[in-house]
Amino acid sequence: METDQLRRYLEFYQDLQIKTLYRRPSHSPAAAPIAVAAAPPPAPAAKPMDLPPLAPKDDTLLRILEDIGDCRRCRLHEGRNKLVFGVGDEHAPLVFVGEGPGADEDAQGIPFVGKAGQLLTAMIEGTSKKEGIPLLRDQVYICNVVKCRPPGNRTPEPDEMEVCGQFLYRQLSAIRPKAICALGGTAARAVTGHKEGVTKMRGKWFKWQDIPVMVTYHPSYLLRPYNQDAKREAWEDLKKVLHFVYD
Ligand code: URA
Repeated sequence: METDQLRRYLEFYQDLQIKTLYRRPSHSPAAAPIAVAAAPPPAPAAKPMDLPPLAPKDDTLLRILEDIGDCRRCRLHEGRNKLVFGVGDEHAPLVFVGEGPGADEDAQGIPFVGKAGQLLTAMIEGTSKKEGIPLLRDQVYICNVVKCRPPGNRTPEPDEMEVCGQFLYRQLSAIRPKAICALGGTAARAVTGHKEGVTKMRGKWFKWQDIPVMVTYHPSYLLRPYNQDAKREAWEDLKKVLHFVYD
Protein backbone atom coordinates (compact mmCIF):
# COMPACT_ATOMS: atom_id res chain seq x y z
CA MET A 1 0.00 0.00 0.00
CA GLU A 2 3.00 2.30 -0.64
CA THR A 3 1.14 4.87 -2.69
CA ASP A 4 2.84 8.19 -3.30
CA GLN A 5 0.31 9.86 -1.09
CA LEU A 6 0.89 7.46 1.76
CA ARG A 7 4.66 7.89 1.40
CA ARG A 8 4.19 11.67 1.58
CA TYR A 9 2.09 11.31 4.71
CA LEU A 10 4.62 9.05 6.34
CA GLU A 11 7.45 11.41 5.44
CA PHE A 12 5.42 14.23 6.89
CA TYR A 13 4.83 12.35 10.12
CA GLN A 14 8.53 11.60 10.38
CA ASP A 15 9.33 15.21 9.75
CA LEU A 16 6.97 16.20 12.52
CA GLN A 17 8.58 13.87 14.98
CA ILE A 18 12.18 14.56 14.09
CA LYS A 19 12.66 18.12 12.99
CA THR A 20 9.88 20.60 12.98
CA LEU A 21 6.60 21.24 14.66
CA TYR A 22 4.20 22.83 12.20
CA ARG A 23 1.37 24.78 13.61
CA ARG A 24 -0.53 26.88 11.09
CA PRO A 25 -3.63 28.32 12.70
CA SER A 26 -4.05 30.66 9.73
CA HIS A 27 -3.10 30.43 6.09
CA SER A 28 -1.39 33.76 5.86
CA PRO A 29 2.01 33.50 4.15
CA ALA A 30 3.52 34.88 7.33
CA ALA A 31 2.56 31.71 9.22
CA ALA A 32 5.93 30.03 9.15
CA PRO A 33 6.84 26.69 10.70
CA ILE A 34 8.08 26.94 14.25
CA ALA A 35 11.43 25.25 14.54
CA VAL A 36 11.88 23.05 17.59
CA ALA A 37 15.01 24.09 19.42
CA ALA A 38 17.39 21.52 20.88
CA ALA A 39 15.80 21.94 24.30
CA PRO A 40 12.31 23.32 23.66
CA PRO A 41 10.53 25.05 26.50
CA PRO A 42 7.69 22.91 27.83
CA ALA A 43 4.42 23.64 26.00
CA PRO A 44 1.87 25.41 28.18
CA ALA A 45 -0.45 22.46 28.76
CA ALA A 46 -3.50 24.55 29.52
CA LYS A 47 -3.42 26.56 26.30
CA PRO A 48 -5.63 24.90 23.71
CA MET A 49 -4.40 24.66 20.13
CA ASP A 50 -6.28 26.84 17.71
CA LEU A 51 -8.51 25.31 15.12
CA PRO A 52 -7.75 26.53 11.62
CA PRO A 53 -10.49 28.02 9.46
CA LEU A 54 -13.21 25.44 8.81
CA ALA A 55 -12.67 24.90 5.11
CA PRO A 56 -10.06 27.18 3.59
CA LYS A 57 -10.31 27.81 -0.13
CA ASP A 58 -8.38 25.30 -2.26
CA ASP A 59 -7.92 23.05 0.75
CA THR A 60 -5.91 19.85 0.25
CA LEU A 61 -5.39 16.77 2.36
CA LEU A 62 -1.75 17.68 2.84
CA ARG A 63 -2.71 21.12 4.11
CA ILE A 64 -5.25 19.59 6.51
CA LEU A 65 -2.60 17.18 7.75
CA GLU A 66 -0.24 20.09 8.29
CA ASP A 67 -2.94 21.93 10.22
CA ILE A 68 -3.61 18.91 12.41
CA GLY A 69 0.12 18.76 13.12
CA ASP A 70 1.10 17.21 16.41
CA CYS A 71 -2.50 17.62 17.57
CA ARG A 72 -3.17 18.18 21.26
CA ARG A 73 -6.61 19.74 20.84
CA CYS A 74 -8.45 17.06 22.83
CA ARG A 75 -7.60 14.47 25.48
CA LEU A 76 -7.28 11.64 22.96
CA HIS A 77 -3.75 12.75 22.09
CA GLU A 78 -2.58 11.67 25.55
CA GLY A 79 -2.78 7.96 24.83
CA ARG A 80 -2.05 7.83 21.13
CA ASN A 81 1.01 6.40 19.47
CA LYS A 82 0.24 7.63 15.97
CA LEU A 83 -2.35 10.00 14.68
CA VAL A 84 -4.42 8.23 12.01
CA PHE A 85 -5.30 10.77 9.37
CA GLY A 86 -6.69 8.80 6.44
CA VAL A 87 -5.52 6.79 3.48
CA GLY A 88 -6.36 6.40 -0.18
CA ASP A 89 -6.99 8.50 -3.24
CA GLU A 90 -7.37 12.23 -2.66
CA HIS A 91 -9.70 12.31 -5.70
CA ALA A 92 -11.69 9.20 -4.82
CA PRO A 93 -15.37 9.25 -5.74
CA LEU A 94 -16.12 7.19 -2.63
CA VAL A 95 -15.08 7.85 0.99
CA PHE A 96 -15.55 5.41 3.88
CA VAL A 97 -15.78 6.93 7.34
CA GLY A 98 -15.26 4.83 10.46
CA GLU A 99 -15.41 5.72 14.13
CA GLY A 100 -11.83 5.95 15.35
CA PRO A 101 -8.55 4.06 15.24
CA GLY A 102 -8.10 0.82 17.16
CA ALA A 103 -4.84 -0.65 18.47
CA ASP A 104 -3.45 -1.75 15.08
CA GLU A 105 -4.30 1.56 13.46
CA ASP A 106 -2.76 3.46 16.38
CA ALA A 107 0.44 1.44 15.98
CA GLN A 108 0.67 1.90 12.19
CA GLY A 109 -0.92 5.32 11.65
CA ILE A 110 -3.20 3.90 8.92
CA PRO A 111 -6.98 3.44 9.24
CA PHE A 112 -8.62 0.03 9.04
CA VAL A 113 -5.56 -2.22 9.03
CA GLY A 114 -6.59 -4.56 11.88
CA LYS A 115 -9.12 -7.40 11.67
CA ALA A 116 -12.05 -5.06 10.96
CA GLY A 117 -9.92 -3.33 8.35
CA GLN A 118 -9.10 -6.59 6.62
CA LEU A 119 -12.80 -7.35 6.50
CA LEU A 120 -13.50 -3.89 5.09
CA THR A 121 -10.87 -4.43 2.38
CA ALA A 122 -12.38 -7.82 1.54
CA MET A 123 -15.84 -6.28 1.41
CA ILE A 124 -14.78 -3.44 -0.88
CA GLU A 125 -12.71 -5.58 -3.22
CA GLY A 126 -14.87 -8.73 -3.05
CA THR A 127 -18.20 -7.00 -3.60
CA SER A 128 -16.94 -4.83 -6.42
CA LYS A 129 -15.36 -7.82 -8.16
CA LYS A 130 -18.60 -9.80 -7.90
CA GLU A 131 -20.50 -6.83 -9.28
CA GLY A 132 -18.11 -6.41 -12.21
CA ILE A 133 -16.65 -3.15 -10.89
CA PRO A 134 -12.86 -3.10 -10.99
CA LEU A 135 -11.99 -1.47 -7.66
CA LEU A 136 -9.17 -1.80 -5.16
CA ARG A 137 -9.05 -0.42 -1.64
CA ASP A 138 -6.45 2.19 -2.50
CA GLN A 139 -8.80 3.72 -5.08
CA VAL A 140 -11.25 4.83 -2.39
CA TYR A 141 -10.49 7.06 0.60
CA ILE A 142 -10.79 5.78 4.16
CA CYS A 143 -10.76 7.83 7.35
CA ASN A 144 -12.37 8.13 10.76
CA VAL A 145 -14.41 10.63 12.75
CA VAL A 146 -11.61 10.91 15.34
CA LYS A 147 -7.97 10.63 14.37
CA CYS A 148 -6.57 9.31 17.66
CA ARG A 149 -7.41 6.03 19.36
CA PRO A 150 -9.90 6.38 22.22
CA PRO A 151 -8.58 4.55 25.31
CA GLY A 152 -9.73 0.93 25.39
CA ASN A 153 -11.52 1.53 22.05
CA ARG A 154 -14.33 3.37 23.82
CA THR A 155 -16.77 5.43 21.76
CA PRO A 156 -15.40 8.94 21.18
CA GLU A 157 -16.94 11.62 23.42
CA PRO A 158 -19.05 14.39 21.82
CA ASP A 159 -16.42 17.09 22.50
CA GLU A 160 -13.68 14.91 20.93
CA MET A 161 -15.84 14.36 17.86
CA GLU A 162 -16.65 18.03 17.63
CA VAL A 163 -13.00 19.09 17.56
CA CYS A 164 -11.79 16.30 15.30
CA GLY A 165 -14.94 16.47 13.20
CA GLN A 166 -13.75 19.79 11.85
CA PHE A 167 -10.87 18.01 10.17
CA LEU A 168 -13.22 15.33 8.84
CA TYR A 169 -15.36 18.16 7.47
CA ARG A 170 -12.31 19.55 5.69
CA GLN A 171 -11.30 16.13 4.37
CA LEU A 172 -14.76 15.60 2.90
CA SER A 173 -14.85 19.15 1.52
CA ALA A 174 -11.42 18.74 -0.10
CA ILE A 175 -12.22 15.34 -1.64
CA ARG A 176 -15.85 16.08 -2.52
CA PRO A 177 -16.63 12.44 -3.33
CA LYS A 178 -19.68 11.30 -5.24
CA ALA A 179 -20.81 9.35 -2.16
CA ILE A 180 -19.82 8.64 1.41
CA CYS A 181 -20.27 5.34 3.23
CA ALA A 182 -20.60 5.70 7.01
CA LEU A 183 -19.49 2.60 8.90
CA GLY A 184 -21.44 2.07 12.12
CA GLY A 185 -23.70 4.22 14.24
CA THR A 186 -21.10 6.68 15.53
CA ALA A 187 -19.87 7.59 12.04
CA ALA A 188 -23.43 7.63 10.69
CA ARG A 189 -24.62 10.05 13.37
CA ALA A 190 -21.51 12.24 13.10
CA VAL A 191 -21.71 12.52 9.32
CA THR A 192 -25.49 12.81 8.84
CA GLY A 193 -26.49 14.58 12.06
CA HIS A 194 -29.31 12.03 12.51
CA LYS A 195 -29.68 10.48 15.92
CA GLU A 196 -31.10 7.00 15.20
CA GLY A 197 -29.27 3.74 15.78
CA VAL A 198 -27.46 2.04 12.95
CA THR A 199 -30.06 -0.71 12.50
CA LYS A 200 -32.64 1.96 11.63
CA MET A 201 -30.29 3.96 9.41
CA ARG A 202 -28.50 1.23 7.47
CA GLY A 203 -29.30 0.65 3.85
CA LYS A 204 -30.75 4.15 3.51
CA TRP A 205 -29.43 7.26 1.83
CA PHE A 206 -28.77 10.39 3.86
CA LYS A 207 -26.86 13.53 2.96
CA TRP A 208 -23.68 15.26 4.02
CA GLN A 209 -24.21 18.69 2.50
CA ASP A 210 -25.32 17.70 -1.01
CA ILE A 211 -23.36 14.42 -1.06
CA PRO A 212 -25.31 11.14 -0.64
CA VAL A 213 -24.33 9.10 2.42
CA MET A 214 -25.03 5.37 2.70
CA VAL A 215 -25.04 3.97 6.22
CA THR A 216 -24.01 0.42 6.96
CA TYR A 217 -22.75 -1.69 9.83
CA HIS A 218 -19.24 -1.27 11.17
CA PRO A 219 -17.00 -4.17 10.06
CA SER A 220 -16.06 -4.97 13.68
CA TYR A 221 -19.76 -5.62 14.38
CA LEU A 222 -19.83 -7.95 11.38
CA LEU A 223 -16.90 -9.90 12.79
CA ARG A 224 -19.06 -11.26 15.60
CA PRO A 225 -19.95 -14.84 14.69
CA TYR A 226 -23.72 -14.59 15.21
CA ASN A 227 -24.25 -11.69 12.84
CA GLN A 228 -25.06 -13.56 9.63
CA ASP A 229 -28.06 -11.37 8.80
CA ALA A 230 -26.08 -8.20 9.39
CA LYS A 231 -23.33 -9.49 7.09
CA ARG A 232 -25.81 -10.08 4.29
CA GLU A 233 -27.35 -6.65 4.86
CA ALA A 234 -23.93 -4.96 4.80
CA TRP A 235 -23.11 -6.60 1.44
CA GLU A 236 -26.44 -5.28 0.13
CA ASP A 237 -25.65 -1.77 1.40
CA LEU A 238 -22.23 -1.85 -0.18
CA LYS A 239 -23.62 -3.03 -3.51
CA LYS A 240 -25.99 -0.04 -3.50
CA VAL A 241 -23.23 2.46 -2.89
CA LEU A 242 -20.80 0.85 -5.35
CA HIS A 243 -23.36 0.85 -8.17
CA PHE A 244 -24.36 4.41 -7.37
CA VAL A 245 -20.76 5.59 -7.58
CA TYR A 246 -19.26 3.46 -10.33
CA ASP A 247 -22.09 2.57 -12.78
N1 URA B 1 -12.42 0.89 13.53
C1 URA B 1 -12.62 2.14 13.06
O1 URA B 1 -13.69 2.72 13.23
N2 URA B 1 -11.63 2.71 12.41
C2 URA B 1 -10.46 2.12 12.17
O2 URA B 1 -9.60 2.74 11.55
C3 URA B 1 -10.29 0.82 12.65
C4 URA B 1 -11.27 0.22 13.34
